[in-house]
Amino acid sequence: MSLQVTNISKAFGGFKALSGVSLEVPMGALVGLIGPNGAGKSTLFSVISGFMPPDEGAIGFDGRSLDGLNPAGRARTGLVRTFQVPREFAHLTVRENMMAAAPGQTGESLVGLFFRPGKVREEEERLAEAVSEVIRFLRLERVADEPAGKLSGGQKKLVELGRALLVEPRLILLDEPFAGVNPVLIGEIMERIRELNGRGIGFLVIEHDLEALTRLAPQLYVMDQGRILTMGAPDAVLADARVREAYLGG
Ligand code: ADP
Ligand code: MG
Repeated sequence: MSLQVTNISKAFGGFKALSGVSLEVPMGALVGLIGPNGAGKSTLFSVISGFMPPDEGAIGFDGRSLDGLNPAGRARTGLVRTFQVPREFAHLTVRENMMAAAPGQTGESLVGLFFRPGKVREEEERLAEAVSEVIRFLRLERVADEPAGKLSGGQKKLVELGRALLVEPRLILLDEPFAGVNPVLIGEIMERIRELNGRGIGFLVIEHDLEALTRLAPQLYVMDQGRILTMGAPDAVLADARVREAYLGG
């Protein structure tokens, strides 16, 4: 069982951002996706998570096709992504941002609100507890009731991760979790990722910074110009002349 990406192509106008991309992430694995700017990494995440339809190709997850599902439907199967540029609600607190992330609350529907107030309250309490737990896990207690817009870049990345955790994920797609983050916080974010991976949550992590990712992921895919260039263990991948050329040329 795995995330299975098969032969995905995607063009913007006449520009081919993805050309026949295939990759596989076994359930519970920690896999890196590297490549120079413009390689198509974020576009691939958008296609996998259902934010953008591909022109061609198929996405399967844990043995079922995701092709007909929107992002919320894919999240319900346990597949979620974060965004390269965090999408926090700047005026809401960290806690409120996380409360807003959880899917399928009864309180979202008017029917639920008017006819099942007891159930709504119960669910809200359960959600608030889950949010507090995630805030503790990510060491965000001190800023939990601050507006998210006031956080540092690294803290915003943690809030993104927290939002992903609240949908009970089985595979999280992280888009550049270390970009613009100070080295101390990078170490912390890596620790949290390792811990979650140890609990069985899989990760596919995009990173532009090769060094950071080789410390984290035992297996890397390399993209360049909309294609998978190669894959394998970090040492082998970094020794590959085509990879160095892609980075120097990019
Ligand atoms: P990466 O994440 O690897 O840096 P992206 O997937 O963001 O690369 O972008 C790949 C290429 O596709 C880039 O040349 C980018 O300009 C282009 N691109 C991405 N999204 C769009 C879009 N919505 N419309 C047009 N071009 C896009
Ligand atoms: Mg990107």
